[in-house]
Amino acid sequence: MIFYCEKHLNHKPEKEMDMGIFVPNADTPQRIEKIAVELQKEGYELHDINHFDESVLSLVHDRDYIEWIKNRSRITPPEQEYFPEVFGYDRLFDTGTPITWNSYESALYAVYTALTSAEWIICGNMFSYAMCRPPGHHASADMGGGYCYFNNIAIASKYIQNKKGGRIAILDLDFHHGNGTQDIFYNDPSILYVSLHGTPDIFFPWIKGFSNEVGEGEGKEFNLNIPLKPETEIEEYISNLNIGLDKIKDYSPDYLLVSLGLDIVEGDNQGGLNIKTDDYIKIGNKIKKLIDDLKIPLMIVQEGGYSGENNAKAVIKLFEGMNIEK
Ligand SMILES: [Zn+2]
Repeated sequence: MIFYCEKHLNHKPEKEMDMGIFVPNADTPQRIEKIAVELQKEGYELHDINHFDESVLSLVHDRDYIEWIKNRSRITPPEQEYFPEVFGYDRLFDTGTPITWNSYESALYAVYTALTSAEWIICGNMFSYAMCRPPGHHASADMGGGYCYFNNIAIASKYIQNKKGGRIAILDLDFHHGNGTQDIFYNDPSILYVSLHGTPDIFFPWIKGFSNEVGEGEGKEFNLNIPLKPETEIEEYISNLNIGLDKIKDYSPDYLLVSLGLDIVEGDNQGGLNIKTDDYIKIGNKIKKLIDDLKIPLMIVQEGGYSGENNAKAVIKLFEGMNIEK
């Protein structure tokens, strides 16, 4: 089942600061809209989301961070965007994630989209796809950034565990390392985090995503980072993906959640790998084999991907590779 919420259309950050100058913000509504349109043309149906209580944000985020985003949104006039004045100041770790009048609401509904999707699999279904926007995997418990305000996949993971218990593997396929998700579960052995991403030596978020970050305390060995060099192509990508999938197989989780960033596609303006949209059939095949072997449900959560057209092509090929029913 595919879940979509039109509230994301209100989220239209206009600019971001890059190397000291303002440039157009890459998190456009078109990123999701193009996927929605093309999936429907292919015969897939999109479903409305359920509403939850705002308190679900506290499953992962600190109360004062939630209040800060909420208040900042409330006091920012519709024609303005709020940027932190100093790097690392306030509750945002970069200057690509402005607060607008409705940042809180749009981010909240992205969380609700992920939770509706989570409800679907904990009710005994085997597949769901949450078309979340804004994305979430860069958001930590008390800090946003990288176009992310609340961590959709992390909140969904905690929600599933609160309702059903069990162990969860998160496979993060976004081009950028999911520093927020890693931070949130770094000491937690009940959630395995595996990420393939452009090496942080060169690429955002720079501060996290190195292979020596393996988890801490009880969470040690439950965090696997697989940094990839620029312009990695599909053969090398698949051999690295196999390492991640083997780790997940050994872990034998009760649920697999995938942070699906489509910015690994060649030419993505935020990316740096050379994966073709057709290559998603191979990626889909691999994921399908894993969930079939483990006999566990799969939930996909949308993260990055900055070309609407390629996003749509990649998702359709991924679904083809996973043999998702229409
Ligand atoms: Zn990304």
